[in-house]
Amino acid sequence: MTTAADAGLPDDPTSSGSAQDAATTVQLSAAPDRDAAARRAEDLFIDSFGYRPDGVWSAPGRVNIIGEHVDYQDGLCVPMAISHRCFAAAARTPTDRLRVRSAQSETVLDIDARDLAPGRVEGWPAYVAGVLWALRPHISGSTTQGMDIMIDGQVPLGAGLSSSAALECAVAEAIESLLSLSTSPLQRVQAAITAETDFAGASTGGLDQSASVLSRSGHALFLDCRDFSTRPVPWDLAGQDLALLITDTRAEHSHVDGEYTARRADSEQAARDLGVGTLRDVDPSALEEVLPTITDEVVRRRARHVITEIERVRAFDSLLASGTVREHVAELGALLDASHDSLRDDYEVTVDQLDVAVEAARGAGAHGARMTGGGFGGSTIAMVEAGEAQQVASAIAGAFAARGFAAPEFFLALPSEGAGQDR
Ligand code: ADP
Ligand code: MG
Repeated sequence: MTTAADAGLPDDPTSSGSAQDAATTVQLSAAPDRDAAARRAEDLFIDSFGYRPDGVWSAPGRVNIIGEHVDYQDGLCVPMAISHRCFAAAARTPTDRLRVRSAQSETVLDIDARDLAPGRVEGWPAYVAGVLWALRPHISGSTTQGMDIMIDGQVPLGAGLSSSAALECAVAEAIESLLSLSTSPLQRVQAAITAETDFAGASTGGLDQSASVLSRSGHALFLDCRDFSTRPVPWDLAGQDLALLITDTRAEHSHVDGEYTARRADSEQAARDLGVGTLRDVDPSALEEVLPTITDEVVRRRARHVITEIERVRAFDSLLASGTVREHVAELGALLDASHDSLRDDYEVTVDQLDVAVEAARGAGAHGARMTGGGFGGSTIAMVEAGEAQQVASAIAGAFAARGFAAPEFFLALPSEGAGQDR
């Protein structure tokens, strides 16, 4: 994680608010200034490769605002790009060598780009090499594919804020420019997904890459997981003195994959019981009549989460279409709260740290708070008054200390611009 301090950059003024109680003052990490961060990536490239790069490209991490555990049931969700980005300083070389380095890792890659194939590249460089490999159908056969790439990321790794998509999408932008391709943003989203699933061998649903490429500043992204169509929705937090406080609870759970598989199986069972292709097809107004037809009590609760969560996304979207965030702040917050409670009680994917962070945020004045991401650890979000972020973070830190949990980490996020060129 790169903070303003260790990047040698001036602290963002929002990153060190004055807490009421100095004893519980916590560090809120706002992303370092984008221009300065891009210059830093360029300098790192020069230090590492000994010459000036052709350009610097970047892509943001993301957080899902609402619509959790509904993607595999053709659901709806509303992610937004966060302020923390991954930067790729890069240059084309007159060879076929692909050389890749990162300020966040000792592991380097130096390979003939023509030899790229799934399984050939280990560790983090697979996410980068995978993007070049996935873009091949768009590269003419006579084009040399050699390039040098220096990565510098601000998105914390493995905190559920999608450092992997930020990395892939920054690289996709760089390759698009360096090799003068003419891919569409959607094709770059697809290349990033293919890189992660088929080349790096990780599993990803596509929400992360869509948000990282397609997001617009001051907006969230409405994403329909049935056909992957998207549209920006107004979500101007900064203009209304609001902010999103992200808490990385740093809680880890050892059987997450098995739990995810079980939840998917439960929701597939529910769809079969209800005679629909996916739970998206259930009319939410008929919920009370149809739910009793599911005999298994656990499966019934799983279905209730998915069906009501999709309905909450619709309600969230309608509110944002009919007024500002400020005008609807209480109702929007209530939807965030209801989403968390459903994930805790019906879907059972929270852990103590997630519940404690959410409760503490609500108690300290957040308009709404919920876990975000797959659950069983990871992060929470709280919609707060911009001037109260510090006090809410302090309350969460205090609640964690009182329970003997490891100290959480805090990030301030504003809805940011998707992938693009910086320099
Ligand atoms: P998340 O995407 O939620 O942060 P993942 O496990 O999907 O978590 O992706 C994290 C992985 O992405 C890291 O373990 C590393 O392999 C790779 N990664 C992301 N950012 C960087 C970076 N700046 N430098 C090197 N590797 C990175
Ligand atoms: Mg990831």
